[in-house]
Amino acid sequence: MNQKKLGIYIHIPFCVRKCNYCDFNSFASDDETKVNYINALCNEIRGYGPKFKDYSVDTVFIGGGTPSILPAGLTRQFMDCLYSNFAIDSDAEISMEANPGTLDIEKIKAYKELGINRISLGLQSTVSQELKILGRIHDYETFLDSFMMLREEGFRNINVDLMNGIPNQTYDSFMNGLKIIKELNPEHISIYSLIVEEGTPFYERELNLPDEDEERKMVHSIPSILGKEFHQYEISNYSKRGFECKHNIKYWRREEYLGMGLSAASLVNEIRFKNTENLKDYLLIFKEREKIYDNNIRFSEFEHLSDEDKMSEYMFLGLRMNVGINISDFEKTFGISLYEKYGKKIQLHVEEGLLEVKEDRLFLTKKGRDLANYVWSDFVGD
Ligand code: SF4
Repeated sequence: MNQKKLGIYIHIPFCVRKCNYCDFNSFASDDETKVNYINALCNEIRGYGPKFKDYSVDTVFIGGGTPSILPAGLTRQFMDCLYSNFAIDSDAEISMEANPGTLDIEKIKAYKELGINRISLGLQSTVSQELKILGRIHDYETFLDSFMMLREEGFRNINVDLMNGIPNQTYDSFMNGLKIIKELNPEHISIYSLIVEEGTPFYERELNLPDEDEERKMVHSIPSILGKEFHQYEISNYSKRGFECKHNIKYWRREEYLGMGLSAASLVNEIRFKNTENLKDYLLIFKEREKIYDNNIRFSEFEHLSDEDKMSEYMFLGLRMNVGINISDFEKTFGISLYEKYGKKIQLHVEEGLLEVKEDRLFLTKKGRDLANYVWSDFVGD
């Protein structure tokens, strides 16, 4: 039996068009490029399979981009390849990101057959005007059709992505949207605050953004709408009990995962590595099955983590989750007590009311979640 557990991330970089706020590695492309990409991806999967024979895979996350832009046949191609080359647990969580406007019944039926059991729908807002400003391709009705189709085909684990801090968004429009989504009864809701990143069309524009107080008021009011049915388990993620995203929890707990596809990142054997971000290079590297790898262009990052790096990651990733970090586990993992290593920093943030210690756990307070970047940055480097 394979004892070691692995998460797999697959990156599908294609989108119908670029949204105005997006800084992910995603772009529009023609059909031929999609076919070439999936062939290259399958070569990468086949290349890695034998190296991970003593692992079994308990989570798969197909992200993008817009994975649901692919025709069912291409999705089938890389999923079949994944099943043939890795030991995927029969109860593995297999998530896929999908965007309204790219789903149809044929694709949804194929996902079901392929064992995909969790769908993450990128809605962002229920208000058409806000969707337009964001540059999304869909309206609320299209989202609703997709959601209903997924339910009819038996999907019982659906996430809906929402966004706060959208230009022209008001407290009322955000709260109203959240109410509408709660009534739809998904199992999971992710709510991200819009960040205007350099290099995006939003960065060049003058935007009527909600001010910081308004934006924080939205975030603070989320539990009043979601009530007891949903619990917040991470800074941006809310779910019904038992529907927390297992794959993402691996990232925050620093468990092992292998990323395949353009710019996909991995953590294996305490080495962080990331595939090239250049599509031409990616297609060249994985053009033929046996003739791979010029590591100079294959990886855009490759880093053996020092103990210092590992401890730092343990802190700033673990503190993203509401349960925070386990104090004895830190000592068991690193052979040094948490207080010996970070005592002064912890004491400072506890005095500021940003961190709290309860029993064997250290976690962000409500105020700490508002100032999370400030707290996390204190554990980056030393
Ligand atoms: S759909 Fe997602 S990945 Fe694609 S451009 Fe929009 S935000 Fe970026």
